[in-house]
Amino acid sequence: MSRKLVNREVGRLIAQTNGAITTINESNYKVKSKSSDNTYTVTATHSGWTCSCPDYARHNAKCKHVYSVEFCRYRNKI
Ligand SMILES: [Zn+2]
Repeated sequence: MSRKLVNREVGRLIAQTNGAITTINESNYKVKSKSSDNTYTVTATHSGWTCSCPDYARHNAKCKHVYSVEFCRYRNKI
């Protein structure tokens, strides 16, 4: 699987985990890492979602935390 697909699948798992995502407000979310005790901040910007994790910083592309917030928001709408 591509990195993108892996991130998407892990993001879905995070979104299904109770307590993994904390809503700060419409555009800020805290997401608990699955692999460590770290918590990352996912933020909406004009150009899309950003995340404070090292993976996002390295690739500048959607990480699993961004996907998890997207899944979470989508689920809450339906
Ligand atoms: Zn991230």
